Amino acid sequence: MRQLILASRNAGKILEFKRMLAESSIDVEVLSLLDFPELPDVEETGTTLQENSRLKAVEISDATGKPCLADDSGIFIDALNGDPGVYSARWSGGHGNDKANNAKVLQQIQELEVNGPVDRSAQFRCVVALSFPKGHKRAGEVHYESGEMPGTIIDTPRGEHGFGYDPIFVPAGFAQTSAELSAEEKDRISHRGQAMRKILPILAASL
Ligand code: IMP
Repeated sequence: MRQLILASRNAGKILEFKRMLAESSIDVEVLSLLDFPELPDVEETGTTLQENSRLKAVEISDATGKPCLADDSGIFIDALNGDPGVYSARWSGGHGNDKANNAKVLQQIQELEVNGPVDRSAQFRCVVALSFPKGHKRAGEVHYESGEMPGTIIDTPRGEHGFGYDPIFVPAGFAQTSAELSAEEKDRISHRGQAMRKILPILAASL
């Protein structure tokens, strides 16, 4: 069976990608970096989501010899001049400590609020990159798609679904946080859902 590698060890992201791919009509076995513990983490040295998504997709398709889908994503908070942005995963220091990352963002906003009301608008953004290994009919090509979900940062985390900053983010037009939405609702409106729906036809035509 054809295989696709997700260039991620983030369980939340992998779950979202796997369920969206399962809902598509694409017949492919989906693996992730959790299935390749021997591979080192790709260094995210880029300064944009597109650069980092490219680094991950190209390095992992080269290393595994399989088509690879990578996502680089983050939350861009207006009052913090777009931070944490591409540094979202490591905002509090270590990589992927969701609780500490949320606490740091809330503390930064509260520090600004000492001087008056703060604009709590934010956007989740995602770029997906699709890369093909040597010998593949599309070797050397990298395809990109993107998505964006606007909303607001709240003060007290709510909700058990999702991952990352979902418990402190209320999508525009909703009363719930994105951690309180069902999986289907989040996929329908999310930055990753939008990017995936755009890249799926390219994936279907390429595998
Ligand atoms: P990276 O793309 O692996 O560098 O990290 C993306 C980081 O952005 C995650 O670790 C989360 O902190 C945050 N993030 C991206 N997408 C989402 C999402 O859908 N919900 C909540 N947090 C997210």
